[in-house]
Amino acid sequence: MKKKQFAIIGLGRFGTSVAKTLYQMGYEVLAVDADETRVQDFSDEVTHVMQADTTDEDTLKALGIRNFDVVVVAIGADVQANLMTTLQLKELGVPHIVAKAKNPLHGKMLEKIGADRVVYPERDMGQRVAHNLVSSNVLEYIELSPEYSIVEVTAPKVLVGKNLVETDLRGRYEVNVVAIRRGEQLLVPPQPTEKIMDKDVLFVVGANRGVQRLEELE
Ligand code: ATP
Repeated sequence: MKKKQFAIIGLGRFGTSVAKTLYQMGYEVLAVDADETRVQDFSDEVTHVMQADTTDEDTLKALGIRNFDVVVVAIGADVQANLMTTLQLKELGVPHIVAKAKNPLHGKMLEKIGADRVVYPERDMGQRVAHNLVSSNVLEYIELSPEYSIVEVTAPKVLVGKNLVETDLRGRYEVNVVAIRRGEQLLVPPQPTEKIMDKDVLFVVGANRGVQRLEELE
């Protein structure tokens, strides 16, 4: 199968991080920025780097942007440039567009224009840090909707030694353990009789209230 090709537009902190990570994972990455210095500084980090103003349709066409499977619009401060770029990409028929939004209104506009996925890196990271501050057991937090979330937690000590039936997490907190990571092993789905061991990592899904109560266990 042909490997996906990615283009990242806007080399701020978010864009450079996405671009570098994909490149390090072995994908072909084109990075684009209007600022010549940013482009030069980034020239050794990915497959290709181009200096271009992506709000211009002809410029985008010349970049051959249509040929990329996924294009990430990581332009931050300049909301107009972010929206205009996303619109041009849509018009050119890019198959999958991911765009970074500053706030919910901006996100709504991106969705209306046709972005396939809207991301809010600052909001998401803020949520993760906050959940990790409540309990150092929390490794990862993902909001599924305003009511539901999924968390990755180191098994709280009070659960170690009990199996999933005995912990009664469903009854007590209305949450479900969908997977357990034990060293290299991933148990998906875990058996109800599976005993939780020290250092296990639990993947738990449920309503926020229950998930939070689980996070607070020690
Ligand atoms: P981060 O939080 O990821 O650092 P930021 O919000 O600070 O992002 P900016 O620095 O505003 O983001 O934007 C990221 C990059 O987007 C900048 O390097 C900027 O030069 C580039 N950029 C802005 N407008 C355009 C445009 N029209 N075409 C191409 N690149 C652009």
